[in-house]
Amino acid sequence: MTVAANQVTTERVDAPATFLREGERLLLASNRLPVTVQRDEHGVRAQMSSGGIATGLSHPHREGKGLWIGWPGAPSPDGTLDAEVQGALAEQGMVGIALTPEEHEAYYNRTCNRVLWPLFHYFTHNVTFRHDDWQVYERVNRRFADALLEHARPSDIVFVHDFHLLLVPAMLREALPELRIGFFLHIPFPSSEIYRILPTRAAALRGMLGADMIGFHTLDYVRHFRSALRRVLGLDVRSAEVLHEGRRVRLLAEPLGIVPEEWQERGRTPEVAAEVARLREAAAGRRVILGVDRLDYTKGIPNRLRAFGELLRSDPSLVDRVMMIQVAVPSRVEVEEYRRLKDEVDRIAGRINGEFGRPRHVPLHYYFRSVPPAVLGALYQVADVALVTPLRDGLNLVAKEYVAARQRDDGVLIIGEFTGAAWELGEAIHVNPYDPVAMAGALRRALEMSPEEQARRMAPMRERVRRNNVHVWVRHCVDAIRDAQHLSPTPLLAGEVRRAEEERWRQSRQRHLFLDYDGTLREFEPTPEAAAPTPEVLQLLNALTQVSGVSTWVVSGRPPQVLEQWLGATGCGFVAEHGAFLRRPGEHEFKLMFRRPPETWRPLILEVMRRFADRVPGSHIEEKPLGVAWHYRQCDPVLSSWQARELFQHLDEFLSSEPLEVIHGSKVIEVRPMGMDKGTAVHILIRETAQASDFVLAAGDDTTDEDIFRLCGKDALTLLVGERESAARYRVPDPAAMRQLLRDWLALLPQAQAAAAEAGRRR
Ligand code: UDP
Repeated sequence: MTVAANQVTTERVDAPATFLREGERLLLASNRLPVTVQRDEHGVRAQMSSGGIATGLSHPHREGKGLWIGWPGAPSPDGTLDAEVQGALAEQGMVGIALTPEEHEAYYNRTCNRVLWPLFHYFTHNVTFRHDDWQVYERVNRRFADALLEHARPSDIVFVHDFHLLLVPAMLREALPELRIGFFLHIPFPSSEIYRILPTRAAALRGMLGADMIGFHTLDYVRHFRSALRRVLGLDVRSAEVLHEGRRVRLLAEPLGIVPEEWQERGRTPEVAAEVARLREAAAGRRVILGVDRLDYTKGIPNRLRAFGELLRSDPSLVDRVMMIQVAVPSRVEVEEYRRLKDEVDRIAGRINGEFGRPRHVPLHYYFRSVPPAVLGALYQVADVALVTPLRDGLNLVAKEYVAARQRDDGVLIIGEFTGAAWELGEAIHVNPYDPVAMAGALRRALEMSPEEQARRMAPMRERVRRNNVHVWVRHCVDAIRDAQHLSPTPLLAGEVRRAEEERWRQSRQRHLFLDYDGTLREFEPTPEAAAPTPEVLQLLNALTQVSGVSTWVVSGRPPQVLEQWLGATGCGFVAEHGAFLRRPGEHEFKLMFRRPPETWRPLILEVMRRFADRVPGSHIEEKPLGVAWHYRQCDPVLSSWQARELFQHLDEFLSSEPLEVIHGSKVIEVRPMGMDKGTAVHILIRETAQASDFVLAAGDDTTDEDIFRLCGKDALTLLVGERESAARYRVPDPAAMRQLLRDWLALLPQAQAAAAEAGRRR
């Protein structure tokens, strides 16, 4: 379903009481405003149209005194909208975005309609991408974001719609980090295999991730989106949420609803009754099969007409008993593919009527135009079978409208498997829209279906469409946007809190630092050997160890030799191999913290790990004095994390009766003797110095650092480096920020200031 306004006009909306809270407004953004702007001798008028989200959102938009931002429908040659148009829009609570004809061409006709639309619907051969068009797309998105920002108040909820505005959420987030933002994609999100074709795939994903909530019509689209995040951005995605730049982004599968009462009631008007009578007379006792679509290549109209031809061919006697009505609403007529499609449909329709038509009997009634609401309502009532078989469709409202417009539990809905609405309309006959024989079979089955079976299938669908209406959809989306912000993950160490901690640090006399190495003091590299300390890291550690009142420990999973070789000269204390070995500041030897367990397990574990290393190109095994680790950084993210899970499970079961444990760290699976962990080691060290120490800072990035965060006491400042679920109190974004923090804090200490002054004098 697209957000474009259509011809149906709503007089009233049966909406439940508004769900917006005191002071909240809903700011909506969609490519097209749901209005038709008319100019006549009395001036300019903006006539509200409905259908799709226009109906659903118009109520909260009005009630909440919100704003709707979008393109009003006609290009503006000079890139502005005249005051009269803006005035007419303002009366409806709308703000118009002006697009020049060139922008409209590059942004809408080319990028939206010739790149995103075909790609997201799996029509890759219809995609024509140009980077300069994408720049215009970006510029237009920026214009939408700016218009929203101009009007947004902190208490507003902004809800951005569809593939035309993929970049807007991140643009808003950047300018107003606290704003509550939702985004809904009304078309399918394709499999990551298809999505990755988009040259600007990363930018588009980052754009959407600016939102607090990203909504899709089906769970499949959520699944595809998650896998695109993993493959394109390498993000760690959990079931219904993803952590991104310190925020939790909620993923929602919530199919758009309609206003079912509108169709029910329209069906009872005299206008529709008259139309129904006219159509019945024209059908002359024949059963009616109905198709209603925009003339779009995603809708599978040629396939559907061929299936109808197939049906008549398989049983010529049906020619006297059935007829098909296909409404094809003109759409995007300026795009070449759409013109070609029209020619094709014209040809097929002509062929069918040529082959099966008789004097005074035309089997296929094909209309290339839009129909007024009363006619559509009548068609839905008269149709014994609705044939909704797009080759790919984000949702499809026609299927829901057919169900809602029935006055009794009768009629049969045939729905294509690749239609989003098929998920909710489980009692319909499901078909593969690419298979004409199967579709003809489904039609036969539908035409022969007993009234009892029709009722058995139709009743639950009518009830479901009634319940899951568009108002419920809006409420769920807005609730999810609101909720997402309550799920705030570990906060950044910033502002007041940072200043308070700084003060505590400055005033303390004996400070203890427990710092993880990889991913905390030093960025990750493709292989562990490549992550040797940079001069900057060495300088920092040297400076820390030279200041009195600060005792610095590097707490790492690395074996003692590596720490010794790389960092030994700095004079830090070390906890090596996750707490198995200890070397105090000033000492030269690493001491084993507990009795070395027997090593009988090692060959077996190595054998298992080697099997996995063979399967995952780029992964490798590291043997440590006490443990063994399988590293899979820089491997294919999907294959490696799948294999990692399997290896973890395998080892976990295999070692359940051994004094060993398996840990799943950052891109590493490690087997080590039980009872040695960083937390226990740090806990012992803190206990030893409990009297003397008055400030503890523990920082780490990995799951193995969580043990430290949990065991180093509630007064400690625990810092996660990066972002994920953590027991740490605060976080910093990356190792560079961590080093900067340590440098800043060091500079606060009088001894360091004196040393710096001394160094300055010497220079
Ligand atoms: N529709 C219309 N005029 C017509 C035929 C259909 O306004 O002549 C409406 C129909 O009621 C439905 C919408 O167009 O609400 C089509 O939505 P759908 O999700 O089925 O497909 P889309 O065109 O959005 O891809």
